Amino acid sequence: MIIRNGTIITWTEPNQLLEGHEILVQDCAIVSIEPQGVLTKRYPEEEVLDAQGQLIMPGNICAHTHFYGAFSRGMAIPGEPAENFQQILEKLWWKLDKALDEEGTRYSALTLLIDAIKYGTTTIIDHHASPNFIDGSLDVVYEAVRQSGLRSALCYEVTDRDGPERALAGINENSRFISRVEAGEIDPMVKAHFGLHASLTVSAATLAKCVEANGNRVGFHVHAAEGTVDQEDSLAKYGKRVIERFWDEHILSDRSILAHGVHVSDDEIRLLAESQSWLTHQPRSNMNNAVGVAPVEKLLESGVNLCMGNDGFSNAMWQEWFFAYLLQKDHKGDPRAMNGYDVIKIAVENNSRLATQIWDGMRVGKIEPGAAADIIFVDYHAITPMTAGNLPWHILFGFRDGMVTMTMAGGKVLMKDRQLLFLDEVEIAARSREVAAQSWARVAEM
Ligand SMILES: [Zn+2]
Repeated sequence: MIIRNGTIITWTEPNQLLEGHEILVQDCAIVSIEPQGVLTKRYPEEEVLDAQGQLIMPGNICAHTHFYGAFSRGMAIPGEPAENFQQILEKLWWKLDKALDEEGTRYSALTLLIDAIKYGTTTIIDHHASPNFIDGSLDVVYEAVRQSGLRSALCYEVTDRDGPERALAGINENSRFISRVEAGEIDPMVKAHFGLHASLTVSAATLAKCVEANGNRVGFHVHAAEGTVDQEDSLAKYGKRVIERFWDEHILSDRSILAHGVHVSDDEIRLLAESQSWLTHQPRSNMNNAVGVAPVEKLLESGVNLCMGNDGFSNAMWQEWFFAYLLQKDHKGDPRAMNGYDVIKIAVENNSRLATQIWDGMRVGKIEPGAAADIIFVDYHAITPMTAGNLPWHILFGFRDGMVTMTMAGGKVLMKDRQLLFLDEVEIAARSREVAAQSWARVAEM
């Protein structure tokens, strides 16, 4: 396929805006980029995808999400409103995930995958929990991802909060799915991590079992220092802070993802940088849970691999970028805080490096020869001069997620002219409403 007739944003370093070029995509990768006319002349038989003057850019990447959170939308939480993060976990998330059965797991995933395709997010790193449907749950999420055609890395959140039997079931679910990936039974668009819920819900014994079961096959994916309660718990039980505990237990590595890091000490920042672990930032979730503000600029200056996730919020990643941009300024009372380039460093460059590591060196998140063909069209017509240099501010202040008109992942067009090609949105939403109502009824009974 040849993609032509648009302005290409490459997200290479340095970033480039290419006018009058065309892209050759073969199988799952970008093969070459040449001046307009060269490829169409060289490969007259190739199908042509005309961007009609739109922007052509790499799909967005989300470094931490929860498909299982979809049914929280519009849900009334029984009882008194939660006063703090611990209560939010207990009153909302630890009930909603228990309410998910096989069908709930499937439709939670499908609905957020549709959201991702429509909003141009082509790579999603998920952290799954469904304590009453653990065995085989990753296969159900996997089938939904495969139906969608997107790129995704999956894991199951191991936790002790529901007793030793389910902790063990979580360990086995991760291990089983990792083995399937290793055996080549899984589409190469899908990879695995070993999931852990968070320090505060994983005991020393369970953590040791996870390390053993993983056997260094993949990186871990875990929440870390999201609320102060995580640090208080770790200090009380282990006499050390969360990141220090994870360092001592061999959880940190250049393959592991730690979500949040809102409350980290200088020593913990040093350990994150030294281990080259990936730390993800989710400002919308942090603001919604009122857990505090991550020290983003300090993390970047210290050499931490800081990435951008959405923690189960909509896969409209440009919204997440904008909150990240605004939050630091407001928090610090300094409009110079969080430059547009810092947002790009986190959400584009570091997310791309993370995805490239997960997909075994296949470059994800760039338009250049050899990179994965994960591409979107954006119907944005700049009203002021737009260059590679000021592009971050055009995105932050001008791009809206509904401007995405075409989404391609792994060389396959998943949405064209805003029409989904493989998923029936109306039918899936209708079924999702039924399944969500059943889940809500179970939550109300808990
Ligand atoms: Zn999360």
